[in-house]
Amino acid sequence: MTANGANQSPPLEGYNVFLSDHALVDAVRREGAGWAEERMSRVGELLGGEPLVWGHQANAHPPVLKSHDRFGERIDEVAFHPAWHSMMRFSIGHGVHALPWRERRPGAHVARAALLVLVSQVEAGHACPVSMTFAAVPLLEAHPEVGGEWVPQLTSLAYDERAIPASKKAGALCGMAMTERQGGSDVRANTTRARWLSGTGPGAEYAVTGQKWFCSAPMCDAFVVLAQTEHGLSCFLLPRWRPDGTRNGFRLERLKDKLGNRSNASAEVRFDEAWARLVGEEGRGVATIMEMVGHARLECLLASAGLMRQAVAQAAHHAAHRATFGRVLEAHPLMQNVLADLAVESEAATAIALRLARAYDERGSDERERRFARFVTPIVKYWICKRTPPLVAEALECLGGNGYVEECVLPRLYREAPVNSVWEGSGNIMCLDVLRALTRERESVEAFFDELRLAAGRDRRLDAFVDSVRDELNRRDEVEAAARRIVERLALALEASLLVRAGQPAVADVFIASRLAGDHGLAFGTLGPRRDFRAILERARPAI
Ligand SMILES: Cc1cc2nc3c(=O)[nH]c(=O)nc-3n(C[C@H](O)[C@H](O)[C@H](O)COP(=O)(O)OP(=O)(O)OC[C@H]3O[C@@H](n4cnc5c(N)ncnc54)[C@H](O)[C@@H]3O)c2cc1C
Repeated sequence: MTANGANQSPPLEGYNVFLSDHALVDAVRREGAGWAEERMSRVGELLGGEPLVWGHQANAHPPVLKSHDRFGERIDEVAFHPAWHSMMRFSIGHGVHALPWRERRPGAHVARAALLVLVSQVEAGHACPVSMTFAAVPLLEAHPEVGGEWVPQLTSLAYDERAIPASKKAGALCGMAMTERQGGSDVRANTTRARWLSGTGPGAEYAVTGQKWFCSAPMCDAFVVLAQTEHGLSCFLLPRWRPDGTRNGFRLERLKDKLGNRSNASAEVRFDEAWARLVGEEGRGVATIMEMVGHARLECLLASAGLMRQAVAQAAHHAAHRATFGRVLEAHPLMQNVLADLAVESEAATAIALRLARAYDERGSDERERRFARFVTPIVKYWICKRTPPLVAEALECLGGNGYVEECVLPRLYREAPVNSVWEGSGNIMCLDVLRALTRERESVEAFFDELRLAAGRDRRLDAFVDSVRDELNRRDEVEAAARRIVERLALALEASLLVRAGQPAVADVFIASRLAGDHGLAFGTLGPRRDFRAILERARPAI
């Protein structure tokens, strides 16, 4: 029974979001960011305090469009609750958007990935501008004629919410606008046009006119956009303000009324002869923007791993305190089955996400890691994002009626859960991208199997599964229709191999028995009954 005597579990607050997550702490060490543990721990401690309130407030008071000022002049601004700004200041101040760009040391990507997993648990909406700013930097660094002036501001730890020219700010944010009304996946069908103004080659100036159907975080200082020139689809950096200090032709038509992600603004925008500069070569827009898109996909899967962890932490915490039929929930064998099933799913997501983050650390100096990152990013983006909604739904049910009430974080996690699967390439688009690599980039596929080989001989069920995955890849019939099935099995093989190597036998055993060897039903909580659930629950339950 709890302190208040009403059999209510105490709120999960005042805890260290990092240190209480053993799967994350272990993954950070394993993947080479142990040096950042103290920093993580500080962030984790802070996140378990006031930011929990900011997260609630920022979502209870969503942003509002301010199209005009009181004199009737267009301003195209968005007003946010102060809690949103507090959350942004927190994450930018801790370098969640920039750590590896500021500190070029081994493990910096892993450390930042862990930071994103942490902050997403407390407030996921603000992770959008944080992530897009992170993802814009490698693109702009590769194109210094445009990026040179922006990168220092985009990597600054200063958050400045004012709607003023970026040149007057100590720090700036960057968004991305590709999706148009007629299509998001097929960006080559974009109709937005760019008219040449001056200059030649990368950095040349253009006037952009058209619409974008989704443009999130529209209060960012600049946007990476795609528009057609006479040479085809091209990539531009389009700032909110022109160099002469006037507002650019960037009109906010309306804000989307979204299922979740409510603290964050997502707009429909119109470009009206908006001043922009060419990034990369004319006509190579898709190839150019992919550097940003690839990093943004990494962000989606990290944020979803964070949502999973928070859902499991809430469920495990509740089950440790709430009693039914004479004992706490976690003592009931059936509830143990459900919780253990959720916990291994979350731990697998954390393990695979941070392993992939390490590939981003090493891809500059190690060709194998570059190939691994290329092949594995869409696999993991597909799989973690696909697993998050059912996991959150099941975790919510562990709290019974309390899990369905807005004062609890679970309804917010539940509404947030599908979004990472939709944006930056929806599920099918990820699977088609994996197929492209399978047919055209065999070295990337081999880098993947090299990684699996590190666990060879450790578990016969895993070895057999890996063999069957290889066989399946060699089949050439109906491969497009089989893409989800193939990608799912690739993801499971990698998750299992990482868990086997991670040294948590109970977690690895349950994962392999259920996900690879078929001892599982269609719902969570259908693990074979004779597994070591207790060890898994001990590991998953956050200590407060
Ligand atoms: C909250 C939110 C914020 C967003 N913010 C941004 C933003 O800031 N910037 C931006 O550019 N975009 C943004 N988007 C847009 C998002 O990236 C697109 O919605 C997404 O890429 C899908 O495009 P679409 O909506 O046009 O769907 P479509 O392209 O019409 O696709 C519909 C469905 O069909 C599937 N599909 C498409 N082609 C195939 C195929 N060949 N085979 C099989 N299946 C296929 C897709 O996977 C998808 O499930 C945002 C979306 C949301 C929901």
